[in-house]
Amino acid sequence: MATDYDAPRKNEDEQSEEVEVKPKQDDEFTCMSCFLVHHRSQLADAKKMICRDCI
Ligand SMILES: [Zn+2]
Repeated sequence: MATDYDAPRKNEDEQSEEVEVKPKQDDEFTCMSCFLVHHRSQLADAKKMICRDCI
């Protein structure tokens, strides 16, 4: 018996993923290194979005 593993893949777009939507404050940013939300005054690298702790 031949088993058909070649089933077509479903490409489901889950763009409307409504998990916990937290309104980000305008004077806050998320560090791309530690992924913590800091105040803008802690922003050390605006291009990389990295806080002072991670630079
Ligand atoms: Zn950081």
